[in-house]
Amino acid sequence: MTDDMNTYEVKCRTCRTKFNVQLFDSHDKNLFVADKKDWYCDKCKKDYFDKQTTELSKAHKSIGFQELNGSEKMISWAEKIRAELINKVNYLKESLTFKDDDAKALSDKAFEAFFAKWHNATEAKWWIDNRRMNVRDISNQIAAISEEIKKA
Ligand SMILES: [Zn+2]
Repeated sequence: MTDDMNTYEVKCRTCRTKFNVQLFDSHDKNLFVADKKDWYCDKCKKDYFDKQTTELSKAHKSIGFQELNGSEKMISWAEKIRAELINKVNYLKESLTFKDDDAKALSDKAFEAFFAKWHNATEAKWWIDNRRMNVRDISNQIAAISEEIKKA
C-alpha cells in the first residue's frame, strides 16, 4: 500500500483552498469522511486558534491575569487550560455555603490569596503542568490557605 492510496483531496470550509489529507479507513469510508467532515487548512486552523487565544488572553487580563510566556503553541493550549481552571474555581466558590459571615469572609480571603498565586503564574508551562487539577484539588488548597490565614 502506498501513501497515494490513502491521500484524499478535501476543501477548507473557510477559504475553500483544496489540500490533501491522509485517511486510513476503507476507501468507501474515507471518501465519505473526506466529503462530510468539516476540513480546515493549516492556515485557517492557525488563524482560528490565534483568534481564540487572543480572546481568552484579553478576557483573562480583564480579571487580573497576566499575559503568558512560552511558545505560540503552548500559550494557545495554556489559555484554554487557564479558562477551564478558572471556571472550576468559580464553580467551587459558588457552590459553598457558610454558617456565618466570619466563615464567608475567611473563605473570600482564601480565594483571593489563591487567585493571587494564579495571577502571577505567567509561564504557559505552569498551566499545562497543572491541567489535571480538579475541583477537589482546588478545594483542598483553599482549605489549606484558610488554615494559614486562621493561624496568622
Ligand atoms: Zn483555509
